[in-house]
Amino acid sequence: VANRPGMALHTKMLIGFVVGVVAGIAANLLAADAPWLEGLIAYVTDPIGQLFLRLLFMLVMPLVFSALVLGVVEIGDPRALGRIGTKTLLWVLAVTAIAVTIGLVLVNLIQPGTGLPPEVGEGLIAASSDRAMEIATAREGVSGIQILLNIVPRNPVEAAANGDLIAVMFFALMFGIAATVIRSQGTRSFVDAVQGIYDICLKLIGWVIALAPYAVAALLFSITAKLGFDVLVQLARFVGTVLAALAIHFFVVFPLLLRAFGGMGPITFLRGAEPALLTAFSTSSSSATLPTTLKVTVDNLGVPSRVARFVCTLGATANMNGTALFEGITVLFLAQFFGVELTIAQQVMILVLCIFGSIGAAGVPGGSLPVIAMILAMFGIPPEGIGLILGVDRLLDMCRTVVNVGGDMAGSVVIGRSEGKAESLQQAA
Ligand code: ASP
Repeated sequence: VANRPGMALHTKMLIGFVVGVVAGIAANLLAADAPWLEGLIAYVTDPIGQLFLRLLFMLVMPLVFSALVLGVVEIGDPRALGRIGTKTLLWVLAVTAIAVTIGLVLVNLIQPGTGLPPEVGEGLIAASSDRAMEIATAREGVSGIQILLNIVPRNPVEAAANGDLIAVMFFALMFGIAATVIRSQGTRSFVDAVQGIYDICLKLIGWVIALAPYAVAALLFSITAKLGFDVLVQLARFVGTVLAALAIHFFVVFPLLLRAFGGMGPITFLRGAEPALLTAFSTSSSSATLPTTLKVTVDNLGVPSRVARFVCTLGATANMNGTALFEGITVLFLAQFFGVELTIAQQVMILVLCIFGSIGAAGVPGGSLPVIAMILAMFGIPPEGIGLILGVDRLLDMCRTVVNVGGDMAGSVVIGRSEGKAESLQQAA
């Protein structure tokens, strides 16, 4: 069925989800310990799921590196006005940190992933991800100072090869800063090449995500055949947690910030922003929404176009509040699900990773999945857990993209207002 041409990807994913769950639960009820079922899981569904995850992993390093370098270069570009750049950077970091914190607090309070007997999680970890276990054991006993030191890689190639995301992010940031300082022909050509890498990664993500329906069916079959119906209850709690956190960020944090720093009431903002929010909801892509975002930010919200152009363009790939919040909840949910204990220090590290992970995620449907898979592996949480959330991801993707785009517009309003003030001060002086 999933092959019928012209069917929307999310419909196919939903079909994959239903097929995987129904077949998996049936198998769990009828043939839990049958050898054929074990064979099917080991030789068919697990490898298909693994293939999908490997393809996602394959894209993480080039994607995160190129996205971060380009982000920094754009912020530091003197043509793009250093002052707006600094304000944008502050907005992105501060508001994204608020978003992730809301997510982490809620997921700790609600605990959507707990409830399975611990041996189940342990069994799944052992069965599914030797590599993740290796990393987990290697990370045990690492002190706080060491965690901080590890942010700086001894060797960036080694860090990339070991999947050490945060060290690679650090290198990319430094690299981007240096690239904005030197204005030579060679640097410019290199930045163009990095843009090329980024564009190619976007294309590749599109191709990989096209395989998602099959991966969803396979991964969900494996999980439900092993665990049965209980998994679905936890999944529903996960969806509820994400939606609640997104709603708090969108309906409480944005209005407060807009009132305090943007001089705009929430109703005026929502009315003006509506076309872009609806486009974001229906496309699940900040990048695809960008033209609409720009138009309404200038025409309806009255932001000067040079501010809107800069903040919204950069924001479409780098300012993703909804994505950051979602990444945090997903990582902790899956940690709870698989019974992986995380210390406070590790959760703080996850917070930082989610902030930069959202900057490094692409503004396309499912753009955050490669980053999440990588963060999971870093903390010894089986990345196969992605399969669990993929089936419900479309709805969450639509909602988090609304928050992502809403954040770009709210940021434009706030920065536009403070630019207006700065200019009138300059004129008065
Ligand atoms: N779809 C999101 C966006 O374009 C990215 C993601 O979280 O997957 O903003």
